[in-house]
Amino acid sequence: MNSGSGIDKVLKDLQVRMMNEGASTGVQNFSNGEPVESFSPVNGTLIAKVKSATKADYEKVMEAAVSAFKTWRLMPAPQRGDIVRQFGEKLRKHKNALGKLVSFEMGKSYQEGLGEVQEMIDICDFAVGLSRQLHGLTMHSERPGHRMYEQYHPLGIVGIISAFNFPVAVWSWNTALAWICGDVCVWKPSEKTPLCAVACQNLITEVLKENNLPEGISCLVNGDYKVGELITKDTRVSLVSATGSTRMGKIVAKEVAGRLGKSLLELGGNNAIIVTPNADIKMTIIGAVFGAVGTAGQRCTSTRRLIVHNSIYEKVKQALIDAYKQLRIGNPLDQNNHVGPLIDVEAVKSYTSALEQVVKEGGNLVVEGGVLSGVGYESGCYVKPAIAEAEPHFKIVQHETFAPVLYLLKYNGDVQNAIDIQNNVAQGLSSAIMTSNLREAERFLSHAGSDCGIANVNIGTSGAEIGGAFGGEKETGGGRESGSDAWKVYMRRQTNTINYTTELPLAQGIKFDL
Ligand code: NAD
Repeated sequence: MNSGSGIDKVLKDLQVRMMNEGASTGVQNFSNGEPVESFSPVNGTLIAKVKSATKADYEKVMEAAVSAFKTWRLMPAPQRGDIVRQFGEKLRKHKNALGKLVSFEMGKSYQEGLGEVQEMIDICDFAVGLSRQLHGLTMHSERPGHRMYEQYHPLGIVGIISAFNFPVAVWSWNTALAWICGDVCVWKPSEKTPLCAVACQNLITEVLKENNLPEGISCLVNGDYKVGELITKDTRVSLVSATGSTRMGKIVAKEVAGRLGKSLLELGGNNAIIVTPNADIKMTIIGAVFGAVGTAGQRCTSTRRLIVHNSIYEKVKQALIDAYKQLRIGNPLDQNNHVGPLIDVEAVKSYTSALEQVVKEGGNLVVEGGVLSGVGYESGCYVKPAIAEAEPHFKIVQHETFAPVLYLLKYNGDVQNAIDIQNNVAQGLSSAIMTSNLREAERFLSHAGSDCGIANVNIGTSGAEIGGAFGGEKETGGGRESGSDAWKVYMRRQTNTINYTTELPLAQGIKFDL
């Protein structure tokens, strides 16, 4: 167990032990698989080993989930909301510890770790209110003396497969809504951040115990993609919510569709900010730099492309170069640093190869980047954020590299040219325009504008509030989770027609006299 960084105290607070059980229901632990080793990218040390779920462990977990659903679905939704409220209270109490664990295990800054836990708290609050608003429509029947309406019922078991970069928030976006909807959840977290999952599971376990509720309401199965496959192939799992790479999403989509299950996919992005001649340059630089280097470029919404009008291109380029000189790279638990490590050395390889490739394709590195070594950088995961002048059609520009590499692209003439460049990639998650010109902003937001799930004006691409539905189009997968009416995906819709007469008229005026 690593000491320093105060991580021992954090693990104690969260009741996370060194040899943690990696498959558990709200109360029982089942853990017989190979251990998953969790290394901190902050200093390269082994934090703990977490046992993965075997097929037999998975079966036990599923039995608990199937049985818990039978009770949980009968509890009135506002009472389920109260359980989620209590979970939100636990998160408030342990916010600092969980935020620190997120930072230490994943490598994002402590502030961002705290922000992630705050997002969990926010979605709990949102879900509590929603638990009294799971409404359907009523409509007028064409038949006299008939009433028609639609209502939403729980789906059953929701499988949640999550990525390393939001090791706790993405689970809560799904689970807080699924729970108030009456579903039970089985979570397969990233094999790169298993401890964060164990910590979350411990917190919800306390809440379930305190309320004498069935243990299978919240289930955890740790392990790699093979454990994820147990979920995607399982017909008992009504909805698979999968967050991760487009590569993974294509496999999961096929598998779940093959058994006619439902899937909610939150996949890779290739997010751009358009900078028009009417942009506020100061705001642009803040938005672009935070978007490109925040979380070391490992957000699904990270800014990867900056599409700048040729009339202000040199000015923006120079301002970015100056801003990058001020970036401090190092231990993310030290609040003086702006940029922490990448998740592992594999990610460093993708970063290095992206820089090589952009040059090979004819690009020009205006901020060179590079891998850091020496004191403080022993994990081998720290890299310098880089900026490359490039062309929109370069293969590497079309590809999501999960690292702090920003491509500078030039456009001429009308803003529509910039929008076309922006849309001309396979992914469709987040997008932004920097302009004080109403016509440009409205064009960007119009049906001929951005084709992304998120389109912002005068803020960057990175991050989102929980109140809106979150997700993206095209190869980003089309899913929506979190706010707005995203809850509907966790429920099944039923249309009901009630006849309160003594006649049995048929629809469309069909006669069937006996
Ligand atoms: P990844 O695709 O490598 O893994 C994500 C999860 O999928 C892990 O839990 C993994 O074990 C599991 N998995 C992989 N193959 C599987 C399979 N065949 N069957 C079932 N499960 C499988 O992604 P990552 O490296 O952890 O995360 C980075 C990626 O996630 C980036 O592409 C990023 O853009 C994306 N992401 C998207 C969003 C979003 O909301 N759109 C949010 C966060 C991350």
